[in-house]
Amino acid sequence: MKTVIHYAELGLKGKNRPYFEIRLAENIRRLLLPLGDPDVRRQLLAAELPAMKFTSFACRARRMHKDFALTSEQINRELGAFVQGLFPAASVDLDTPDLEIFIEVVNREMLVYFRKEAGPGGLPAGTAGRVVTLLSGGIDSPVAAWRMIRRGCKTNFVHFHSMPFTSQASVDKVRELAQKLEPWQGAYRLHMVPFGEVQQEIVTNSPQEFRIILYRRFMMRIGEAIARRENAHALITGDSLGQVASQTLTNLETVNAVALLPVLRPLIGMDKQEIIDTARRIGTYDVSALPHDDCCSFLMPRSPATACTPDKAAEAEKGLDVDRLVKETLSKVVEERVTA
Ligand code: ATP
Ligand code: MG
Repeated sequence: MKTVIHYAELGLKGKNRPYFEIRLAENIRRLLLPLGDPDVRRQLLAAELPAMKFTSFACRARRMHKDFALTSEQINRELGAFVQGLFPAASVDLDTPDLEIFIEVVNREMLVYFRKEAGPGGLPAGTAGRVVTLLSGGIDSPVAAWRMIRRGCKTNFVHFHSMPFTSQASVDKVRELAQKLEPWQGAYRLHMVPFGEVQQEIVTNSPQEFRIILYRRFMMRIGEAIARRENAHALITGDSLGQVASQTLTNLETVNAVALLPVLRPLIGMDKQEIIDTARRIGTYDVSALPHDDCCSFLMPRSPATACTPDKAAEAEKGLDVDRLVKETLSKVVEERVTA
């Protein structure tokens, strides 16, 4: 049996379309098992049809190569007669048939199938370059990573944990989330960043309502340094506008102010329910829904500021040795390499 992939947006590519096609084919091949015997194909119709339960049918032929001896119309007629020979009670109905039999003529081969399934769309993973996703244990960031993969990126991951104040189960959960994205993009690296010390310093030396924003600014600085080492071109987060206090426009501006690399937020305009629906579809939801102690709920302020301007944040960081903290934390990052 063969798999026929119809693509949408790749058809718009010009002279580098083969590059995208080759990557797409490689990515698909990575996920497929060989089905072996080519005779399976010839017997497909006679073998599969009896299980289909239909009283009406339509044949829908298309020729990719017009030099094939028969026209689409002739193929439809011949195949229709063949099917009626097998099922004398079945009638042809071109408008609302119980069963559609699709035929495609490609490279002088005839491919036959009964069902079309929508693919993920987008561009082949690996064609758009490399990014680094800040992966928490929540629902949002794995979806953000997936949306970038779908647009052709390869992503590695950075996770900030506060072990031993947060649990082993929580870091294992993040490992599992990254693993769920592996089929979509292949091998990746997960950088585990011990963040407890930075948090302690922030808690001791800055106003409590700005804590969460300062955590985020340190995540950006450390994430950016890791991204640069990896030759990545952007940082990805799962922020969605206004979802929580740290995701107001002002706070996003203040968090962005410490990074020079672009920070892309593919979920920024999505509602929570849309994000959840996507998480279910891509297979990350069940893992995300497991209990988790996030490093940011640890030492979480009672009422985080919703409008911490860049100036206020810079002022609040005056009591911290930012460069030293970033450097020391970077030296303790543990890199995990994961292949399929
Ligand atoms: P998520 O469901 O992705 O955790 P959230 O709605 O809980 O998102 P926040 O906790 O405010 O939102 O986090 C916003 C974004 O910041 C996350 O989507 C993620 O990209 C990043 N982030 C937050 N915490 C961490 C962490 N511990 N490690 C890595 N990235 C993090
Ligand atoms: Mg979170």
